Amino acid sequence: MLKIRYSFFGRMDGNFGVDEYIDELFPIVKGKMGPVFAPRANFTNRIVEMGEEDFPISQWIIGTRNEADGGIVSKPDQRIVLFNADCPLVAVLDQQTERFAALHAGFRCIIREIPKRSKAPRGPSIIHELFTRHKFSPNTSKAFVGFGIGPCCYGAAHWEEAKDLTFKFPVGRATRGSRCGQISFDLYTIIRSQLLEVGLREANISIYNRCTSCEMTDFPATLAYYSRCRDGPNKGRNAALFWFTK
Ligand SMILES: [Zn+2]
Repeated sequence: MLKIRYSFFGRMDGNFGVDEYIDELFPIVKGKMGPVFAPRANFTNRIVEMGEEDFPISQWIIGTRNEADGGIVSKPDQRIVLFNADCPLVAVLDQQTERFAALHAGFRCIIREIPKRSKAPRGPSIIHELFTRHKFSPNTSKAFVGFGIGPCCYGAAHWEEAKDLTFKFPVGRATRGSRCGQISFDLYTIIRSQLLEVGLREANISIYNRCTSCEMTDFPATLAYYSRCRDGPNKGRNAALFWFTK
């Protein structure tokens, strides 16, 4: 049976991206696996297949020429790395076609902005894009979701959707951290509902819903999550490495 695998790295002392700290980040896996695919995430709904628009960054890291918040690979020795700082990440494995995707699922990747100058509707979520444009099959796919901030700490006062009473996703209040008392969204619930919407079976969705901001902080610094919400901007970054095995 095909399995989704992952490793998670947190760093508190550097706003690292793929071109910084990368050798330091993966001393164990470096040299022991095939190329690592590192999509250049920036809150889009674009997903790029490895090989489509490769931008070599080092001997073993392949970026993308254009911004993309998701990557697709199709061999077990190909890894995908995503960098985050509170946004949940989603890995999807289509067991029939043996295609594997990892998605950065920040709020604006899963809830697209309403275009301001036209009457066009919101664009599709990056999750919908995977199952429509990129043709992953909901019947044969399974998903892992994790490594993001919980509704306990997220807060949502910075989003216009928090003031929009017609916004259909459930809202609550943050109960911890610096945004305590603010309206808050549960990103994990939104992601889960979108995965169900495209047709994934509940049993094939696995959610690791620990919060980057209020959990995992008692670990040694190298294992702790960095949280933008908790620690402030540009002080750290997390990296998640995803792959699949047969
Ligand atoms: Zn929390």
